[in-house]
Amino acid sequence: MNEKWIEKNVDDFIVEPNLIDYDKEYQRFSWDDMACGLDGLPSGGLNIAHEAIDRHANSKLADKTALLWLGQNGERKTYTFAKMKKETAKFANVLKKLGISKGERVFTLSPRLPELYISVIGILKNQNVVCPLFSQFGPEPILQRMQRGDAKVLLTTKRLYKKKIIPILDKLPELRFILLLDSDEHENEKVLSFSSLMDEASDIFEILHTEAEDMSILHFTSGTTGMPKGVVHVHKAVYTHYMTGKYVLDLHPDDIYWCTADPGWVTGTSYGIITPWIHGVTNIVDEGEFDAVRWYKILQGEKVSVWYTAPTAIRRLMRIDSEPTKEYDLSSLRLIQSVGEPLNPEAVIWGEKKLKLPIHDNWWQTETGGIMISNLISQTIRPGSMGRPLPGIETGIIRQNEDGTVTEITEPNKEGDLAIKVGFPSLFRAYLHAQEKYDKCFVGDWYISGDLAYKDEDGYFWFVGRADDIIKTSGHMVGPFEVESTLMEHPAVAEAGVIGKPDEMIGQLVKAFISLKAGYEPSDELKRELIGFGRKKLGVAVAPKEIEFQDNLPKTRSGKIMRRLLKAREMGLPEGDTSTLED
Ligand code: ATP
Ligand code: MG
Repeated sequence: MNEKWIEKNVDDFIVEPNLIDYDKEYQRFSWDDMACGLDGLPSGGLNIAHEAIDRHANSKLADKTALLWLGQNGERKTYTFAKMKKETAKFANVLKKLGISKGERVFTLSPRLPELYISVIGILKNQNVVCPLFSQFGPEPILQRMQRGDAKVLLTTKRLYKKKIIPILDKLPELRFILLLDSDEHENEKVLSFSSLMDEASDIFEILHTEAEDMSILHFTSGTTGMPKGVVHVHKAVYTHYMTGKYVLDLHPDDIYWCTADPGWVTGTSYGIITPWIHGVTNIVDEGEFDAVRWYKILQGEKVSVWYTAPTAIRRLMRIDSEPTKEYDLSSLRLIQSVGEPLNPEAVIWGEKKLKLPIHDNWWQTETGGIMISNLISQTIRPGSMGRPLPGIETGIIRQNEDGTVTEITEPNKEGDLAIKVGFPSLFRAYLHAQEKYDKCFVGDWYISGDLAYKDEDGYFWFVGRADDIIKTSGHMVGPFEVESTLMEHPAVAEAGVIGKPDEMIGQLVKAFISLKAGYEPSDELKRELIGFGRKKLGVAVAPKEIEFQDNLPKTRSGKIMRRLLKAREMGLPEGDTSTLED
């Protein structure tokens, strides 16, 4: 046992975790057994909307709160599973009446309003494909995605329509309808009022036979490494959502669950909509943006028990040096999970100290549709590690050979490509209109993630960096994550982004961009101190040779540090696609 590890004792848990014996479960797991927790359509087949809503509405959970919506200005709305069944049926009928046929794409561009959540399930009911867009995108990224995704219908608000859609409307000739969520009257034959259509629609809808392989969701990636890709998912992904809801989020019937991600990103749909409902759990949706006080108040006031958030939010909470458990009653909280980018060990430990719960890191991608690797509530956490692969998921570290084959690296602690054996239900089925790019992701029966990692002796996976971000310096390979995490240990550092800057002598030079915590000012002295700190901890070969202070590091709108942008700016190169860059 390493002193930094966080050991778990099952006797300490008020609620018995769903998974206690990891090795045994991993060995005996089968997807067919897991599917027993799902219902299937009455007529046969599989549809996410039925699993998430209708089956519960038809059960003793009918009157349980499915959606608890918290408005920006203190408003609250609750929707039971029974009500959700009716509302989503109405919207499915709306789409059907408009003649939107199976497989056609319905885009959403909306703040986190209850209607957005109702629509997503309604779209799936009518066997259309949901394509959620982040409401803060500007017109150009919206246009690109709608064109590439063959949008037939768009759901949005009056404000967003005026500001962002009217300027691009003439470039979207295939778009048949725009439904305005907050308009009482139809504007014309194409621009219609959502509520008027809903008022006229029947609240009974029978989901037609849906194949598990039918397309369900089209999601664009975060654009951290380049042009966002359109990732195609199918209804069968619900198997992975069910499994991970059970084992990673450890959902139990009485949980109050809150996922802070916006449905514009895959976490916000897979885990902000589908997964809690599949488990019949109350799902909180907050319309507001990040605000530490607001967030702590929600955790306290709504008695959130399972919380799924992201490193960027954790780092922001860390930046404010507060004592949340003294100021708020967070005693209902029993599990915190995080995803999106590497979770520095400092953040895991901060959770233990300040929230009285460690943060559990987990790893996945838009392409994998659901969580693949995770720290589990009942298992020892090794801070800095993403955890171990979930039951039903076979992950490996591989090396790509020159002849196009791959070799699995079985030796522990050796870096390579993080890859997953194909065959798990939620693996994406295509990059829309980019077959060649899709094919390149697969070698033999491995899906190659594009991330580099290593596996320790006990099967824990450690993130090294994205293949594109790896720094080659004086013959060494340096992963930015390791350097960033070390810098984060320094009391002055709030965030760090590390890149390789081309250098004639040593190939690439490790350069760190740093934003400071409140109370610290940039100075040459602090630079020298940080360089010395890095050298002491990491050794001269790996430590940053240059440091630059920045108030804010460039991030995607979902909060990921964009190292490619730091690098492009450093080198004076074009910035490439910046559609997902935070304002
Ligand atoms: P794009 O593919 O457009 O460049 P993206 O890869 O950021 O964007 P997502 O699918 O949202 O788009 O993010 C998945 C990626 O996020 C992973 O491949 C990995 O690089 C990073 N990531 C997610 N979770 C973790 C984690 N727990 N630890 C380290 N990295 C993570
Ligand atoms: Mg990616």
